[in-house]
Amino acid sequence: MTNSDFSSIGNLLRGQGNIIITSHYNPDGDAVGSAMAMYHTIKQINPNVTVVLPNRFPDFLKWIKNAADVVIFDQYDQQNMAGLFNKASVIFCLDYNAPSRVESMADTMMAAPATKILIDHHPNPDTAAFNYLLSKISASSTAELVYEFLEESGLTSYINKAAAECIYTGIITDTGSFSFSCNNPKTYRIMAALIEIGVDAEKLHRLIYDNFSESRLRLLGYAFDKKLLILSEYRTAIISLSKQELNDFQYKTGDTEGIVNYPLSIKEINVSILMTERDDLIRLSFRSKGDFAVNRIAAEYFEGGGHKNAAGGNSYLSINDTIEKIKSILPFYQNELNGDFK
Ligand code: MN
Repeated sequence: MTNSDFSSIGNLLRGQGNIIITSHYNPDGDAVGSAMAMYHTIKQINPNVTVVLPNRFPDFLKWIKNAADVVIFDQYDQQNMAGLFNKASVIFCLDYNAPSRVESMADTMMAAPATKILIDHHPNPDTAAFNYLLSKISASSTAELVYEFLEESGLTSYINKAAAECIYTGIITDTGSFSFSCNNPKTYRIMAALIEIGVDAEKLHRLIYDNFSESRLRLLGYAFDKKLLILSEYRTAIISLSKQELNDFQYKTGDTEGIVNYPLSIKEINVSILMTERDDLIRLSFRSKGDFAVNRIAAEYFEGGGHKNAAGGNSYLSINDTIEKIKSILPFYQNELNGDFK
C-alpha cells in the first residue's frame, strides 16, 4: 500500500458506510486479536463496524472486550449474512491470504461490492481477490501489521487499551510467546508502545495461557505419554488424536492448541506434526525449528500451507494411512532434516 492508499482508506473508514472485519476459519489468537484490535480502534471513528468470523473461536479468547459481539457466520441464516455483507462499504480480510481460507463464508464475502482490504503475513497472497493489500511475510503476526496499518492511516491515537490488548494477544500467540518469528526489533517497539498504552503483560499471559480446563491438561498428558511417535531417522515427531480420544477428554475448540509445539522441545527433534481427527477429515498441524520449511509439505501433500515454521493441512485418509503417507514423504527430505540447523 502506498501513502495515498492509506489516506484514501482512512477517508473510507471515516465515512458513513458499514465496515466488516473478517478473519480465517478456525480463528486463532492472531485472527481474533487482529480483528478485535481493528474493531476497537475503528469503532471510535465509525460506529458501524462488525466483526464476522466464519466459525467460533476458542474459549481462551473469550475475555477479549466485546468478544461476545462477534458474529459467527455459520450460526446465522445465509440470507441475513448476505444482506450484512452487501451493505458493507469496506471489508477487512485479516490473517489470511486467499478467500478460500474463510471456507463457506467466501462466496458471500466475495459477492459483496465492498472495498476489500487484506492485511496478512502468509506467503503468496491472492492479489486479484483484494483491492488493497498490506502483505508482509516478515511480520511476526497480522496483529503487528494491524498496528502498522493504523499507524500509517493516522489512527495511532485511537489505539485504546482494549485494542492494545488485542494486538498484544496476536503477537504473543503467533510468536509462541517470543520463541519464533521474533527477531525483528520492530515487534518489540510495538510491544513497548502497547505497554505504554496500558497493557498489563502479566495479566494477559495468565488470561491466554492459564485459562484451560483440567481435561485439557489430561489430554496433553495422554498425548505425550501414549501417542507420541518419534521417527528419529527423520528427526520428526508425530502425535495423532482420534475423535474418540478427543471425546474421552471432553475436547473443546482450542484444547489441542499448542500441543504441536511441545515435541520440538526434544533436542533432536526438528519437525513436529499433530493430527486430529475431525468429522470428515484429519487436520494436520506442522511445526519446525530453523530453516526446514514445513509449509512446502503442507502445500504439496496436504492441500494446506502457512509459514516456514508453522503450517497446516488436511488429509482424507485414516489416521494410520496418513502416518504411512508422512513416512513415505520424509525420506525425500532426509538430508535436510538431518542437516545442521541454524
Ligand atoms: Mn497469524
